[in-house]
Amino acid sequence: MTAKHVVVIGAGFSGVAAAAALVRRKNGPRVTLIERGRFGPGLAYSTNDQHHLLNVRASNMSAYADKPEDFAHWLKSKTGAEPTAFATRQRYGQYAETVLKRAQRARMFGGFQRLRDEAIACRPGSGWWQVTTASGKTLEANAVVLALGNQSVSHPSIFVEAGIEPIEPWDAKGLQRIGRGDVLLIGAGLTMIDVALSLADKSRIKTIYALSRRGLTPRMHLDPPMPAPSTPLQLPQNLSDALHEFRREVRAMAERGEPWQLAVDRMRSVTPSLWRALPLAAQQRFLRHLRVWWDVHRHRAAPEIAAKAQALHESGRLRVLAGEIVSVTKTGKTFEVYHRQRGSMVRHRLDVSAIVNCTGGNPDLTRSTDILISQLIGEGIARPHPNGYGFDLDENARVIGMSGVAQPGVYAIGPITQGAFWESTAVPEIRARSAAIAEQF
Ligand SMILES: Cc1cc2nc3c(=O)[nH]c(=O)nc-3n(C[C@H](O)[C@H](O)[C@H](O)COP(=O)(O)OP(=O)(O)OC[C@H]3O[C@@H](n4cnc5c(N)ncnc54)[C@H](O)[C@@H]3O)c2cc1C
Repeated sequence: MTAKHVVVIGAGFSGVAAAAALVRRKNGPRVTLIERGRFGPGLAYSTNDQHHLLNVRASNMSAYADKPEDFAHWLKSKTGAEPTAFATRQRYGQYAETVLKRAQRARMFGGFQRLRDEAIACRPGSGWWQVTTASGKTLEANAVVLALGNQSVSHPSIFVEAGIEPIEPWDAKGLQRIGRGDVLLIGAGLTMIDVALSLADKSRIKTIYALSRRGLTPRMHLDPPMPAPSTPLQLPQNLSDALHEFRREVRAMAERGEPWQLAVDRMRSVTPSLWRALPLAAQQRFLRHLRVWWDVHRHRAAPEIAAKAQALHESGRLRVLAGEIVSVTKTGKTFEVYHRQRGSMVRHRLDVSAIVNCTGGNPDLTRSTDILISQLIGEGIARPHPNGYGFDLDENARVIGMSGVAQPGVYAIGPITQGAFWESTAVPEIRARSAAIAEQF
């Protein structure tokens, strides 16, 4: 192999952004992008439901780190929307496809190839990596980018034990099939709101219950927006001290008339380094006790979405419950669910025609049934992060093998890097990471 060759596995947004950054390098490597399904939109941007909006304004959704206005310009040319708009996720999926087409045009003479196939193994060869696919191809590459994406939802054990399989939130046909009556959504985050808005259009569906341990729902973006402050929040590298300092800063900002949202935004660029500096026990403490608070303040809803959710709430159509399920049984066409409200021993009964699991993908790769992930971990090429979220990675996003050494030339990007960097799943971080990986070539 003479010219450099990089294989990117997965063509959701992360793989698209990584491939786009690689082909834009002057004298950059040859790139092969492997995808087993649809190229471009991935899980987040495949929806056709017009209720499903981005939760980031257009001005911060460019796929390119060095062209931050790209999506806003593209959106304006397609729809006339302003950079402050929250576009539909379907529209963003079309943008991802456009980014891919541009990459292809930039490398007309075989420098960029799409391969519809499933990567099933990635092993070291002599001096390069060998990627094997389900159709029997073997690709040799100097480097591999794992953009394997959001992992599939795993259902709480109470459902598994009862032999009941809740509907997955992205299963549009499954949602369409839900019959007359009340519905129970497990989880209370942005995904729950997406599903509630989709179901609320159907008059046969009566009350939509959303149940999570604390019943916390996402906060709303500032409206009108305020520019993100340029000075990052400097926090001590100790979880308790950092939390204390963060609260103090929020109070100080409030006294200056600055909303808390800006304090959260000021943390964004420093979160990965703060996260990496925390010992494992502190990361685990955060995941156990603070994560739910982080999620609702960090992952905020577009004002239009928050207003629709509020209206559903006020009309009684959406009821958010804090508590836990204690039993679930299927009786004919309905499910009988007993739940206990937080802080109470009293059991309440719900009879629902469907249950939708809105708790998100399972980040624990040791429980993954994906062939490639099992191969990488099983053969010690990669190891799961000890905090249970994705792969263990070095600071340059190279996977760390079972021996504890980073694999030269095997990078990871997107949701599978959350355990290593925490702030790593949204478009701004994915494009920055893509640019950093591309700079290696
Ligand atoms: C519902 C939702 C809404 C979001 N909204 C926003 C938002 O508004 N703004 C924002 O900044 N971020 C948002 N995000 C976060 C972010 O943009 C996503 O996490 C993004 O989808 C990550 O893309 P990905 O490519 O890593 O994963 P995925 O979209 O899951 O794509 C992974 C792809 O890899 C393929 N694949 C996996 N393994 C293999 C294999 N072995 N061989 C071949 N192909 C393979 C899969 O088929 C899939 O197409 C959202 C996330 C979700 C889930």
